[in-house]
Amino acid sequence: MRNTSDGLSIAPGRAATQGLNSPAALDRAALPDSEYDVVVVGAGFAGLTAARELGCRGLRVAIVEARDRIGGRTFVAEQDGQKYEIGGTWIHWGQPYVWNEIHRYGLTITESLSGAADTMSILSADGLVTDTAEAIGTDLEQILTAYCDIDGAQGRVAFANPHAASPELLASTDALSLADRFAMIPAAGRQRDLLLSFLTMNAATDPAKGGFHDQLRWWALGEYSADSLLKRLGRYKIAEGTSALALALLKDANADLALGHPVSQISVVDGAVRVRTKAMEIRCKAVVVAAPLNVLGDIDFTSGVSHERLAAQRERHVCAGTKFIARVDRSVGAWVGFAPFPNPLTMVVADREVGGKSVLVGFGPDDSIDLGDIRLIESELRKFLPGVVVEEVFAHDWTNDPYAKGGWTWFSPGQTSRVLNELQTPAPPLFFANTDWASGWRGFIDGAIEEGIRSARDLLSYLRASR
Ligand SMILES: Cc1cc2nc3c(=O)[nH]c(=O)nc-3n(C[C@H](O)[C@H](O)[C@H](O)COP(=O)(O)OP(=O)(O)OC[C@H]3O[C@@H](n4cnc5c(N)ncnc54)[C@H](O)[C@@H]3O)c2cc1C
Repeated sequence: MRNTSDGLSIAPGRAATQGLNSPAALDRAALPDSEYDVVVVGAGFAGLTAARELGCRGLRVAIVEARDRIGGRTFVAEQDGQKYEIGGTWIHWGQPYVWNEIHRYGLTITESLSGAADTMSILSADGLVTDTAEAIGTDLEQILTAYCDIDGAQGRVAFANPHAASPELLASTDALSLADRFAMIPAAGRQRDLLLSFLTMNAATDPAKGGFHDQLRWWALGEYSADSLLKRLGRYKIAEGTSALALALLKDANADLALGHPVSQISVVDGAVRVRTKAMEIRCKAVVVAAPLNVLGDIDFTSGVSHERLAAQRERHVCAGTKFIARVDRSVGAWVGFAPFPNPLTMVVADREVGGKSVLVGFGPDDSIDLGDIRLIESELRKFLPGVVVEEVFAHDWTNDPYAKGGWTWFSPGQTSRVLNELQTPAPPLFFANTDWASGWRGFIDGAIEEGIRSARDLLSYLRASR
C-alpha cells in the first residue's frame, strides 16, 4: 500500500509524521493521451461518480486530480490492521445515493460505539456533567425541536421537501445566522449548552457565521427529530472504508486517471474545451468540474463562465472544522462528549475499542486545534476525560488544505439565496459537480454522488443535442 502526503500521525515523544498509508493513494502520474470526450476535474465522490456514469456509456473519460490519491475529502488511513477515516465517514440508508452505491458494490456497514451511546457528558461553564445518553438525548430532542420549529409543526410544513426549499421558506429563514435564531428561543442551563454544542458541531464555525437555513435543512433531512438526525450523522460507517467505495467507482469508470496535477485553467474555444495543468494540456468536448466550492476561485476560467457564476464561485462556505482521531490509554465505553462554542473541542465521540483501549474522534470549530500538537489535544481531551493519555493521533488539516480549504459544506446567512441556483446551473460545455451545491445531503458523501449523477445526465443530454 502507498503513502498519501495528506494527513499526519503523532505519538508522544516523536514529531508529527506527515503522510499516511492509504489504499486511495495510487500510482497514476500521467495521462496516456491528450484528447478525450470528457475531462473530470477532481477525483472526489462527485467526480468519480460522474466519470463512472460517463465511462459506462462508452465515452472516453480522463480524470485529472490535484492530490496523490482519490477520494477528495474522504480517505482511509491504514495502520497495524486498523482503518482510520480521516475525513468523511458516516453514511445511512436515509441517504439514498450513497446507500444505492453500497448495494451496487457489495459493501457492508459497521457501527460506531457512539451511535448507540449509553453515557454522555457536557462540558459547560459550571464544569463537566455526565448523565445517561437517554436523559441528555431527551434534552437535545426538546431544545432542537424548539429551535427548528418555525411553523408550529416542527418544520414539517414549511420544509416538507428538504431537497427543495420554497422561496417563502428562504425568504423567512435564510438571512438568519445560527446565533440569530438561537436568540429567538428560550434556552437555559444544560439544554442551552447542548444546543450551542450541536449547532457548532454541525457548522464547525462560530454560530454567528453559520447560516440557520442549513441547520433547518439537516433537521428536515433527519426526519424532524434529533435522534433520527444523529443516526444519519454519526452511527454507520462503510466497513471496508470510504476508499473502497472510491476505488470501486474508479474501476467501473474505466477512465484514465492522472494524480498530482492541479488544474489551473479551463477555457472554451469554438465550443471545445482546453484543460491546463502545469505539465499537461488536454482537449475535450466537455468538462465536469468536480472541485470544491472553496477552491473554485483558484481555477482560471478564461471563458465560458458568466460573471454571475464567477461571483457565486468566489463566495466560500464557512465550515472550517478540525477532526482528529486519538487512540487513548483506556476504555471510555459507548460515550459522547459535548462542549458549547467557543470551546476548542465541540464534540468527542468514542468510535471503537482496540485491545481494550478507545479510539476517539474529536471535532472543533474554526481551525481552533493545532493538529500537530499531541499535548494540546491531550489537554483538551482531559477536560472531558480527566487523566486520559493520548497514545497516537491521526488527522488532516482540511481547512488549510489547498484543494479543500474547508470541511463539509455550511453556508453563511443568505448564501443559499445568493449562490445556490447559480452554482447548480450548468454552463455547457462546462458542467459542475460537487457536494457543496447538492440539493439534498449537501456537504455529505451522499450529496457528492447526487451531483455526479446529475452532472453526467446534463452532460450526456448536451452531447446528444450537439451531435
Ligand atoms: C473532516 C470531515 C468530516 C466529514 N464527515 C462526513 C461524514 O461523516 N459523512 C459524510 O457523508 N460526509 C462527511 N464529510 C463530507 C464529505 O467528505 C464530503 O461532502 C464529500 O467527500 C465531498 O465530495 P466531493 O467529491 O463533492 O468533493 P471533494 O471530496 O472535495 O472532491 C473534490 C476533488 O477535487 C480535487 N481538486 C481540487 N482542486 C483541484 C484542481 N485545481 N485540479 C484538480 N483537482 C482538484 C480535490 O483534491 C478533491 O479530490 C466530512 C468532511 C470532512 C472534511
